Amino acid sequence: MTLVIHNATIVTGDDEDRVMHRSAIAIEAGRITALGGSDAILAAYPDAERVDAADRAVLPGFANIHTHLGMTLARGVFEDLSPPHKPPFCGGLSPIPLPTLSVEENAVMVQLGALEAIRSGTTALLEDGAGIAGYAKPLAATGLRLLLAERAWDRKGAGIGDPGPFVADEALGEAGLERIAALHAAWNGAEGGRIAVGVAAWAPDMCTPALLGKLRALQQKLDCVCTIHLNQIWGEVAATEAHRGLLPTEYLEKSGFLHDRLIAAHCRCMAHSEERLLGRARSSVAFNSAIAARRGLSPRISVLEAEGCTIGMGTDNMAEDMVEVMRTGLFMERIRREDGRNPTPEQALRWATRNGYRAMGIADGGWLAPGNRADLIMIRTDRAHLVPRLRPVSAFVHQGQASDVESVMVDGRWIMRDGRVLTMDEPAIIREAEAIARRAWAKLFAEHPEIAVPAGFAPPI
Ligand SMILES: [Zn+2]
Repeated sequence: MTLVIHNATIVTGDDEDRVMHRSAIAIEAGRITALGGSDAILAAYPDAERVDAADRAVLPGFANIHTHLGMTLARGVFEDLSPPHKPPFCGGLSPIPLPTLSVEENAVMVQLGALEAIRSGTTALLEDGAGIAGYAKPLAATGLRLLLAERAWDRKGAGIGDPGPFVADEALGEAGLERIAALHAAWNGAEGGRIAVGVAAWAPDMCTPALLGKLRALQQKLDCVCTIHLNQIWGEVAATEAHRGLLPTEYLEKSGFLHDRLIAAHCRCMAHSEERLLGRARSSVAFNSAIAARRGLSPRISVLEAEGCTIGMGTDNMAEDMVEVMRTGLFMERIRREDGRNPTPEQALRWATRNGYRAMGIADGGWLAPGNRADLIMIRTDRAHLVPRLRPVSAFVHQGQASDVESVMVDGRWIMRDGRVLTMDEPAIIREAEAIARRAWAKLFAEHPEIAVPAGFAPPI
């Protein structure tokens, strides 16, 4: 069956950043087969199912290349409890621990994150987590294109940025390696290739050189993408210097962990020499702009890009809104560069779409051209904040909202259509997620009276 979306404004994201007005796109068997003027495409596919996209724009879907979907549990809490930028450092990303959930409860929080991702126009997503096998099935059922990066580490009893000694635990590292291999065997290539499995090392201050070497060997054996949190916070930099006598990126370089299939998340607290090492290796960077802004830290995106890195974008924690991430990234870089013209909205859109797909190893996705994967979104443009529709890319990057996204397609299949997510029971997930989180936090505070309850916290249900 062929589908033709006609009468649309089409943002291609191609090499020339072409925007096609009053145009159509034909889709067959999960691929884009043609782009052109509406009349010509409709004439070429007379039997196609037609979607009239008047007052709509078609864009490539977003690739979120760094997230932890279940961290929706800490929404409203961890955003305001960022780690210190100066000593004394402490371990973890918040002074309050995350409540423990059952595997089933965690899967609901993951689905909540997936709903927000789809609603903000995400079509591809890299999930970094430990124990992904526990929620891979409901996550695959969302219809999103997924890169599942199971995480390994071998530092015992500590979190990122912990100033304490490195207590190595070989068995902990081996368990991570086994989880990655098992997840790969079970899920890589599933759903007609929509699901891929990758390798994740937690962070430089959470892994020995021996484990990094084994993870690199496993990644080469599995022929997959690899990811790591890198230069995320100043505590991590201090800990890596204390443990290894090197800056985090230097440590990875010395351990043979920098390469062109690596996605380095964050890259904020970096010396220029480190940005150069990462660029020389042609690694990709996950620019997690919204969480970076919340943490009060910024990567130097223009420098990383100039040194040779591919810039993609991610949401990281507590949020999955890629529209916000794209705009925040443009704002942050303009402020940091003190440049009111650069980056351009076209560049920001490319980071959030085509570059992310490329980082995930998908060269034929994230931009609209014949032969490419039909991963796309339709947004409503007849909105007070988007009219007049003179330069659709600029208007959407500067003023667009996740709620403008009306339909989302992955592999030629609608996973959201006319404002309704078709792959999940949205009201039930929202209801359950609320109850699970309220219960879990109330239990945590009851069991730990020494933890100060953040201001304005909701009472137990
Ligand atoms: Zn992260």
